[in-house]
Amino acid sequence: MTPVTAFADQHLALFGLGGSGLATAEALLAGGAQVTAWDDSETSREAARTRGIAVADLRDADWSGFSALVLAPGVPLTHPEPHWTATLAQAAGLPVIGDIELFCRERAKVAPDAPLIAITGTNGKSTTTALIAHLCRVAGWDTQMGGNIGVPVLALDPPANNRVHVLELSSFQIDLAPSLHASVGILLNLTPDHIDRHGTMENYAAIKERLVASADRAVVGVDDPHSAAIAARVKASGITLTTISVAGRPADVTLDGTRLMRNHDTLADLAGVATLRGRHNAQNAAVAIVAVQAVASMQPASQPIDVPRALHGFGGLPHRMEQVGQRGHVLFVNDSKATNADAAEQSLKSFDPVFWIVGGVAKEGGLAPLAPFFSRVAKAYLIGTSSAAFAAELDGHVEVEDCGTLDVAVAAAARDAAGSDAAEPVVLLAPACASYDQFKNFEQRGTRFRELVEALPASLAGQAEEKSRDLTR
Ligand code: ADP
Repeated sequence: MTPVTAFADQHLALFGLGGSGLATAEALLAGGAQVTAWDDSETSREAARTRGIAVADLRDADWSGFSALVLAPGVPLTHPEPHWTATLAQAAGLPVIGDIELFCRERAKVAPDAPLIAITGTNGKSTTTALIAHLCRVAGWDTQMGGNIGVPVLALDPPANNRVHVLELSSFQIDLAPSLHASVGILLNLTPDHIDRHGTMENYAAIKERLVASADRAVVGVDDPHSAAIAARVKASGITLTTISVAGRPADVTLDGTRLMRNHDTLADLAGVATLRGRHNAQNAAVAIVAVQAVASMQPASQPIDVPRALHGFGGLPHRMEQVGQRGHVLFVNDSKATNADAAEQSLKSFDPVFWIVGGVAKEGGLAPLAPFFSRVAKAYLIGTSSAAFAAELDGHVEVEDCGTLDVAVAAAARDAAGSDAAEPVVLLAPACASYDQFKNFEQRGTRFRELVEALPASLAGQAEEKSRDLTR
């Protein structure tokens, strides 16, 4: 845990008692602050009480006694409208901050030069964060990874000069962290997402820009117009900047086949690295390598990192283009984390032919951005509430089967892929949708997919024969 001593003897209001809220309250208490917490859910309030956290309805509190409101990142600060606690805090003239801000203030107080790598972007944050942490560990550094991935930031060990913190940050977390100041700030990419929560694309981009504009060194992917404009401004401000392009744009690091090139030198060759397949993962790998090398250059005693060995040792993350099984020549890939079309695009274009399991709760724009990749799709297996809309979108382009559930879709896709003449047909779960119509979250959806694949017979040959008999009947 990181005890937050920067607020010792002060009284803070805290709203949102999920995992990170509980960790935050405990870190504040351990640092000598007083906390009054609240959450809409009685179960969460009870969890807090059992941990010795004072719980009281903040509607009835005397806000003049607080020095700040600590808000969980899932709670709306501005859009679609400010949460009632934010309104009360503003009326009392109090700052509204999050756990990342508490961490930053503590770091500024106890170890201002402690290495901090902060990662943001619309897609690829978790993969890149995990890869950076892996590279840091291979380099032999004391590494703490968390934030928007895995462990809440204040549940990690405290900042120290010989310890690297690798933090994935969502736009909500950056929005609540005005004093964020990373040693290396990373912006991967920017496409519309969560606009409902940030009002406009410009506002969303401006929040993400703060992470790189306040860093000692910045690494920015320049393959989309918003990120490219941010890179230009960061450069003009005098911050040391490395730009990355995997789509043929001019940049410091570019992609040539499977090789990442820095000027005319090979930075890394990704051929054969199964967990970093696809161009999007080349972007993730490039920023990870550049970031870790930047931290190494700040640490005088550090040994050179054996990048090729480290990349091959990266296990990847579950539910992100995760290879969960092989039956004969058919590969099964779980990309349940592809909850929007941009994310699904990456896996769709990494395989050919694709037996595509798609659907759930559709995002704005539906499947339109994926139209250029429909030619790779041998057939689509529709699940979830988006089925009718997606059937209409795919009509005339892709053969579809309305499966309803994931269970039916896996059986149908496995049967068809087994009969394919292609060298490596892929049954791909890339829903391009949220999961909450049929699952608790994307993890549960991906886990179910894995279970269904594991339950398939060792050989699918019989199923393909079954299918060809059906066709000849
Ligand atoms: P995040 O944490 O930003 O949601 P993840 O690393 O969990 O990102 O990846 C989510 C999905 O986004 C993956 O399943 C993959 O399909 C896609 N993706 C990963 N990296 C990138 C990238 N650099 N650019 C675009 N899409 C990506």
